[in-house]
Amino acid sequence: MSGRAQLMWDEAVTGYDFGPEHPMDPVRLALTRSLVGALGLDREAEVVAARPAGESTLRLVHREDYIDAVKAASADPGSADGSYGLGTIDDPAFAGMHEVSALIAGQSVGAAEAVWRGEALHAVNFAGGLHHAMPGAASGFCVYNDAALAIARLLELGAERVAYVDVDVHHGDGVQAAFWEDPRVLTVSLHEHPATLFPQTGWPEETGADCAEGSAVNVALPAGTGDAGWLRAFHAVVPEVLAEFRPQVLVTQHGADTHFEDPLAHLAVSLDAQRAVQVACHDFAHEYAGGRWVALGGGGYAVVEVVPRSWTHLVGIAAGRPVEPETVIPEGWRQEVFARTRQLGPQRMTDGRWPVSYASWEAGYDPADRLDQAVRAARRAVFPLRGLLA
Ligand SMILES: [Zn+2]
Repeated sequence: MSGRAQLMWDEAVTGYDFGPEHPMDPVRLALTRSLVGALGLDREAEVVAARPAGESTLRLVHREDYIDAVKAASADPGSADGSYGLGTIDDPAFAGMHEVSALIAGQSVGAAEAVWRGEALHAVNFAGGLHHAMPGAASGFCVYNDAALAIARLLELGAERVAYVDVDVHHGDGVQAAFWEDPRVLTVSLHEHPATLFPQTGWPEETGADCAEGSAVNVALPAGTGDAGWLRAFHAVVPEVLAEFRPQVLVTQHGADTHFEDPLAHLAVSLDAQRAVQVACHDFAHEYAGGRWVALGGGGYAVVEVVPRSWTHLVGIAAGRPVEPETVIPEGWRQEVFARTRQLGPQRMTDGRWPVSYASWEAGYDPADRLDQAVRAARRAVFPLRGLLA
């Protein structure tokens, strides 16, 4: 029988820090953890610190020479010269980089193990979702690909079908690459179009290798897409492929950088729509995957205004105590925000767009609409490969 939801947390994950000039400020993790506590959600879930991913686990996805390069850069950051993507502007080397990256990966692997073994039905690692890391290189602020490692561990434990749904504003390229030739893993990524955003991949035509045709699904959304378009696209693609694939476990990545305040991308999604997708992912886990759900964080660079609220909603949903959007945020948390960042924190758990509505795909589409064109392209590229009507 499944226990309570697990919240994976080790304070040391906040050591994943590329320095003061870098947009991925670990204060976002600390502030999320304290907002979870301020709302009492850490009493609803079991808070667990898993061990760091060991060498044999890291090798399920990553090449040995790359792991060695991360260790060398971690021990001597000055030696990183850009090879393996280490020591670059996006991924500067820092002391202890290997250890903290393996610790974050360990939380996602631990979440996957707990869900597979039935120790928890749902598990959340909001420090994870580092979906750009490649088998042999760091990329896009990501060193070890905890999402891919969690999936690889599930396969190692005997899973035959794992679905991965990635709603970060950026394409989930590293996870797609890790399982490009593996029909046991369905990867679905909903992101801003590669023509306007890093990593310039995630075209609808990317559907998996010949031996795994139709195992990669990409929805490339026009810049500027807002709540109604984002939810319409999500619901026009995700439930049908999940229903057909029948995953044993659902792994989701909840990068909060789709938000209209995010400084690094160009979608216009609200916190309320992000929460709606989190609720939908939870529903899909129960509908299509026996409830087994591993939920991860990801990108998100509005580190005060957006990330803590978004992922606190995620924890609440997984813990079975969803936070009402109108909830007033405790003053103590806002004081902590000011003390740490000199910024004023948000006052409520909503952007005021609740409830968010959208038009369903079944009700018909407009061939002249760019959002509908993007959805149609995704469906046409992959649905026939999965035996579905485009
Ligand atoms: Zn992102």
